[in-house]
Amino acid sequence: MRKPILAANWKMYKTIGEALDFLNRLKNVVGTEENKEIVVCPPFTALKISAEILKFSRIKLGAQNVGWAKEGAFTGEISPVMLKDVGCEYVIIGHSERRQYFGETDETVNRRLKTALAEGLIPIVCVGEKLAEREAGQELAVVENQVKNSLADLSPEDSAKVVIAYEPVWAIGTGKTATPQQAQEMQKFIRQIYGRMYGEKVAENIRILYGGSIKPENISELRRQPDIDGGLVGGASLNVDSFVRIIRAS
Ligand code: PEP
Repeated sequence: MRKPILAANWKMYKTIGEALDFLNRLKNVVGTEENKEIVVCPPFTALKISAEILKFSRIKLGAQNVGWAKEGAFTGEISPVMLKDVGCEYVIIGHSERRQYFGETDETVNRRLKTALAEGLIPIVCVGEKLAEREAGQELAVVENQVKNSLADLSPEDSAKVVIAYEPVWAIGTGKTATPQQAQEMQKFIRQIYGRMYGEKVAENIRILYGGSIKPENISELRRQPDIDGGLVGGASLNVDSFVRIIRAS
């Protein structure tokens, strides 16, 4: 049985005070959910206060990116050791906004992934095609390449710890959700590729999330698909009521 994950990606939103207010409210409402993993990924500046608030709740803490070394002369980067130190269990790696605006490639994603795993973080690795690639009928080839390269060369033990998020770029922040059928088709395909890389048993057990304009109104239909094990939620996770509705509807 794959335990579903609902992860909130706050992107570059929320001050410390806003994070505090949100998490206190979230904790009271879903603090004891046992059959789902709830993960909140605030900006780096709000991680410490968030860890303190979430200490005795079941809500897990994640970061939105991680450096590829344990420490060193890498100005502006945050290492996996630091993320563990502050209380993170999860980290998003290779989000399309990082790929699009900050030069992230499959190779750098793979480096970050390996360091994160080595330090005991659970990575949520993002893949997904752009609109022009889908319109050209290349979506399967693009995502296959991303999965093969971003997730390459893992030990059998590490390969079982990975979470993958399928996030079609054309659906992120656009209000345009992939249909449950489109998401299912791709997520089944991702599981097959992963199975060829690390064995069917591992692939059968990893969680594959969908991300892209998830809302309280569309999550239940998405979750009904056999290969959609939860969601990575951006915009709709910034409002506590809509995030709670998504958790409940999923
Ligand atoms: C995301 O940032 O990962 C995301 C899916 O954003 P949104 O839900 O706003 O499309």
